[in-house]
Amino acid sequence: MSIIICCGSQVLLPDSNILQPATIIIEANSGKIVEVHRQLLSEDLLPPHVQLINAGTKVILPGLVDAHVHLNEPGRTDWEGFYTGTRAAASGGVTTVVDMPLNSIPPTVTVADLSVKRASAQGQCFTDVAFWGGVIPGNQSHLKPLVEAGVKGFKCFLIESGVDEFPCVDENDLKEAMSILENEPTNLLFHAELDSHSTSEDKPSDLTSYSTFLHSRPDNFEIGAISLITRLQKKYPSLPCHIVHLSSSKALPVIRDAKNAGLKLSVETCFHYLCLTAENIPRGKTIAKCCPPIREASNRELLWDALKDGTVDFVVSDHSPCVQELKRIDEGDIMGAWGGISTLGLGLSLLWTEASQRGISLAQIIDWTSVKTAKHVGLHERKGKLQTGYDADFIIWDPDAEFNVTEDSLEFKNKISPYVGLKLRGRVEKTFLRGSLIYDRVSGFDVVEPKGELL
Ligand SMILES: [Zn+2]
Repeated sequence: MSIIICCGSQVLLPDSNILQPATIIIEANSGKIVEVHRQLLSEDLLPPHVQLINAGTKVILPGLVDAHVHLNEPGRTDWEGFYTGTRAAASGGVTTVVDMPLNSIPPTVTVADLSVKRASAQGQCFTDVAFWGGVIPGNQSHLKPLVEAGVKGFKCFLIESGVDEFPCVDENDLKEAMSILENEPTNLLFHAELDSHSTSEDKPSDLTSYSTFLHSRPDNFEIGAISLITRLQKKYPSLPCHIVHLSSSKALPVIRDAKNAGLKLSVETCFHYLCLTAENIPRGKTIAKCCPPIREASNRELLWDALKDGTVDFVVSDHSPCVQELKRIDEGDIMGAWGGISTLGLGLSLLWTEASQRGISLAQIIDWTSVKTAKHVGLHERKGKLQTGYDADFIIWDPDAEFNVTEDSLEFKNKISPYVGLKLRGRVEKTFLRGSLIYDRVSGFDVVEPKGELL
């Protein structure tokens, strides 16, 4: 049996809030953790010819599971792709991504579509990749087959999605889909904005002002959508439902009521809602546009509070890139620009930069970005923890290193991100997938091959 040993004096183990010395024994062929010792084993006690990964005083953390990523391949591979997207993920300590059903062509709304997607991902992925399916009007007969084919759940939109091939659903579509899925081992994810604008409203005059955009997607859109979802949940209580990318803190009371009533509702928010604020987005800065929008600083603080008290369950990237032209950077046309923010590679550093100022521990951050997200996608028996029997997915992390985000440092395809120019705290030094190096900050990807699996 070929063995890899990973050790360090600051390791985050599952049932602990503190970093502690540990030695992790990995079986090289399977990439599984076979033993965890809560101490540093002396090197002369180790068997000969083992591969030793010694993190020294750097921190060893479980790899992140990013449950919300748009890789856009095939069909919009000029926006992103499995190769570049998963490299970017690996550079930020993410070892599993779950790809959204839309923005690729075809979208993942039938088993045939899923096969197309899996075929194009094959051999290109640096991280493990799993897939969400989609619910659109008319694809009800494909839902059960998609569950059987292995999608981790389904995403739908209550407002136009931005791409023609993934239309939004109405209440009747939802009732049909929920009655089909209610006894399946799956969950239903909602883009929770519901357009409540009356048609008589004035056309916005200033297309470059961020506040114009903010007013066009008010808190009421999220409150209305989440109220509809929780109302439907009472009819189909066995089906777990999930709110993707919550932005509005004003929707938190509806969520708290639903959770207190015992509804199976979970909620994610994104790095950008926790790190950026509307007040700091200048006129014409289209690269900070996403839907729902980034709101005011006071809203951001309430999202942090909701994460801390468990109303919001976890944090994902919603990495949603596009080509430069669609961001309308030169015109500064925020209203006309594609809505989506590119984040892969930066999430953990972004969150640590903000969280460490708020006295939040690394263990708490990993709970939000790895443990809980793994559970959400049904991978909690093999991902998200440094524990015997789990995949040896881990990162070596320097919590004190500071760096400036530059375009050159971004690994995703289109180097457009609102984080360029920011100084962040905490840096991924190395990322390992099933015991194999998939990213090294110093040597980059020179020695690395895409070894990710499709889960
Ligand atoms: Zn998304």
